[in-house]
Order: sequence, then structure tokens, then C-alpha cells
Amino acid sequence: MTMINNYDADLIIIGAGPAGLSAAQYGARASLKTLVLEEMAPGGQALNIETLENYPGNTGRDGGAPRSGIEFSEDLHRQAENFGAQFIMEGAEDIKKEGDLFFVASSGGKTLRAPALILASGAKRRTLDIPGEKQFYGRGVSYCAACDGPFFKGKRILVVGGGDSACDEARYLSRLSDKITLIHRRERFRAQKTLAERVLSDPHITVRFNTRLLEIKGEAKVTRTLIETEGPSGPLRLEEETEAVFIFAGALPRTALAAGIGAELDESGYVLTDQSMASSVPGFYAAGDVRSSPFRQVVVAASDGAIAAHCAAAYIDGLKGVTYPRTF
Ligand code: NAP
Repeated sequence: MTMINNYDADLIIIGAGPAGLSAAQYGARASLKTLVLEEMAPGGQALNIETLENYPGNTGRDGGAPRSGIEFSEDLHRQAENFGAQFIMEGAEDIKKEGDLFFVASSGGKTLRAPALILASGAKRRTLDIPGEKQFYGRGVSYCAACDGPFFKGKRILVVGGGDSACDEARYLSRLSDKITLIHRRERFRAQKTLAERVLSDPHITVRFNTRLLEIKGEAKVTRTLIETEGPSGPLRLEEETEAVFIFAGALPRTALAAGIGAELDESGYVLTDQSMASSVPGFYAAGDVRSSPFRQVVVAASDGAIAAHCAAAYIDGLKGVTYPRTF
């Protein structure tokens, strides 16, 4: 039996997206002193979801719409706090492990100690790194339709990407303008079939496959784009007038802290876990978009968080010598 004492929390959760908030609730309900570190608003990427239509049970009542990502995140946050989880609105900057204790250095200068950690730090957007992208960010280039779409009502809008985000966001924009062009570098979408079919049958959206965005041009704001389409007789470059470019090229996991502590990552940089969400470092769990997983959804993140907190509780019991026989 290992003795642990003199720590700030049983469980520290890094990140308050759906995975972290779900873990916070399950950790607190399991009577763990649970601290959540979050540098932005609770909700993470879910805050950008206009209508969370595919979360099981989130159907809306009495003919109303399903809750938005913001409403859903507020409810998750309140629920976790009601069960006793505590939130510190600071980022985690460094993690060290000494014996059975993790030491987390926060952006506010705190050092917090706990025997178990759940990394639920999510992912950040991937950029295209093409000329004009950085220069025109906020001046026609955007990564969030709900945030910036209303500035481009009735305008020509180019959407880039072939995943669920590109399809979802193109559909959102098609309510604001009937001049949406969606380009994707391959000959078919990666997005779920339902979302792809909605885009393909939307009269406001023109889809061009095998097409890449090479450059974003303009003066004070975006006015043109240079795109390249792979045709039967080779690549064809075209300069087109556009007022806005919305880019949805996927995400990069925020796993620097996991790498720093020696947790094993997959070839794309996501944290490898077993079915209990445990990483290769004892006591260090991962949940949600940072975790190596075949399907990234809010429901998966929430499930990951619940499993991670439950299994972290069993791990802590093991350290304290009050274990219950595990059945997995
Ligand atoms: P994603 O599934 O990784 O798709 C990213 C898209 O961007 C891919 O089509 C990719 O092309 C393209 N791309 C990447 N780099 C590019 C580049 N340099 N130039 C041009 N295109 C590039 O990312 P996502 O759509 O943001 O979705 C992330 C996760 O969230 C997914 O697991 C998704 O299922 C989930 N999500 C779900 C929903 C929903 O259920 N309603 C909504 C949004 C997101 P390739 O196809 O060639 O790789």
C-alpha cells in the first residue's frame, strides 16, 4: 500500500469541455475532492455548436429546438458544481510526478497536488498555413460560422474542408447566404453521411471536390481567392471573387502536457489509453478529443470523462488501500 497525504485534491481535471465537465461531475459524485482547471469558458469546442442535435436525448421539449452547445455546456458546468466540483479559471502549464503525486503548475502561479489527473484539454484548430490566411484573419478569414457568419449575409462565401465541421458550418452559412462554395481536397467527404447528404442537396451550396485553396487575397479585407482544381487534363488554377473564407481543416490535440510527462501518444499525437481511459503513466487519464479514438463527438467525450473519473476513483482507492475488486 502506498501512503499519500498532503495534497490539494483527489482528482485534478485539466480542461472543461464536455469530457472535463462530465469527469468533474462523476469525480465529485464519487466523493473525490475534484478540481477543474480551465483557462477559457467551460464548454470548449462545444460552445461553437449552434444546435446540439445529435446528443442522445437532447431533442428539445414541446416542439422546441435541441439545446445549443452553449446551453448544454452551462448545464454541464452547473451540474458539476452542484455535485461539488471546484473550478479554477487558470490554465495548466506544467505537470510533474513525484512518487504517487502529480504537481500541476497553473498559469496563475499555483502548484496543485493530486494523486490522479485527467487530461481533457481538447484540441485546437488546424490552420492551412497558406498565404493570406493569417493576414486576413478577422478581416474575412474565420474558423467559426456562428461567430462571424452574420457579418457576411448575402455575400460570396468559400468554405474549406470535408469533415463534419465543414458540412455543419456550411449548412449554417447557407441560411445567411445563397452563394456558398464548399471546396474539399478529395473526391468525397469524410463527414458523416447524413451531414454530407444535407450539404449536397442544399441549393445554396456549390460543392467542388478535388479542389484546394492556395491563397487568400485582398486589400483591407478578403476580396479574392486562388484555388486549384484537379481536372481530367491536369490542375486548373482559378482566381475567384469572395468576401469570406471559412476554414474547417480539423484539429490538433493539445497533448504537450501528456508528452511532457512521458505518456504514450499515437502517430497523430493523441494520448493512447486503455478502456479505463488510463494512459501509460499510472494515475494519468485522458478523455475526449485529446484521446486516441475512432470517433470524436460530444457524446463520446462525455462518456470518456465519466469512465476516466470512475476509474481514477478506483485507482485512488488502490493507493489509499481501500480497493474494491475490479471487474475489468
Ligand atoms: P476532421 O474530421 O479531421 O476533418 C477535417 C477536414 O479538413 C478533412 O476533410 C481534411 O481533409 C481537411 N483538411 C485537413 N487539412 C487540410 C489542408 N491542409 N488543406 C485542405 N483540407 C484539409 O475535422 P472536423 O470536421 O473538425 O471534425 C473533428 C471531429 O469532430 C470529428 O471527429 C467529427 O466527427 C467531430 N464533429 C462532429 C460533428 C457532428 O457530429 N455534428 C460536428 C463537427 C465535428 P481529408 O479528408 O483529406 O483528410
